[in-house]
Amino acid sequence: MMGKPEDIVLLDENGYRIDGRKKYELRKIHMEVGVLKNADGSAYVEWGKNKILAAVYGPREIHPKHLQRPDRAILRVRYNMAPFSVEERKKPGPDRRSVEISKVIRGALEPAVILQLFPRTAVDVFIEVLQADAGTRVAGIAAASLALADAGIPMKDLVAACAAGKIEGEIVLDLNKEEDNYGEADVPVAIMPLKNDITLLQMDGYLSKEEFNEAVKLAIKGAKAVYQKQREALRDKYLRIAQEVGE
Ligand code: ADP
Repeated sequence: MMGKPEDIVLLDENGYRIDGRKKYELRKIHMEVGVLKNADGSAYVEWGKNKILAAVYGPREIHPKHLQRPDRAILRVRYNMAPFSVEERKKPGPDRRSVEISKVIRGALEPAVILQLFPRTAVDVFIEVLQADAGTRVAGIAAASLALADAGIPMKDLVAACAAGKIEGEIVLDLNKEEDNYGEADVPVAIMPLKNDITLLQMDGYLSKEEFNEAVKLAIKGAKAVYQKQREALRDKYLRIAQEVGE
């Protein structure tokens, strides 16, 4: 969020946004499950101009051993942005932002994963952002939960996620990069729809209490639409397998 230059109009007089969307419209989303041969589970998500790959290993033995929990598996998450994922080359390796995002994504996923089934092991989730255009944490959560399902890790539900925000004084769904840069607020949310649970809720920027409530409601609606797309992507994977078996 930064000051908006005078000549940038994020919402025109007909109610259209800079990329042609209406206020409550999601960007185009494409999801694919089982895209990597050498991971236990994987998924690829294109969400607007975001391109994100998630890979899961585990449950597997933990090194170093002192990290082992006798009663459950531990969940580890690494969110990483490729140097070429943003306009100006990003210095490779972890930074403050990626460490924070890894932590909040771990928190968003953990309530869904039934870790008690695999004592002394780790489930490792790697999220690689290949192209970033705002909303990478919610797209990363969607990709990671598909990769966990693909790895056969037992879960209470898929975790779905989406953000809402404020541009030109209006609450809108799913901010893109320009909207994130020059908008007034961004509210990413993750949910477990079957459990009616919220596992991530953040706010960047300024909103009144009423606006915040409206943004959360809208983000949850968006996440429910994302959830349906996740289910379709999983179903497609198993249909593909069924077809191969039939041939
Ligand atoms: P999110 O991607 O979850 O919205 P942020 O709000 O921190 O997380 O980032 C918004 C967007 O800003 C990112 O999706 C990305 O497009 C851009 N961005 C983040 N970090 C950098 C960076 N180091 N260099 C350039 N752009 C960045």
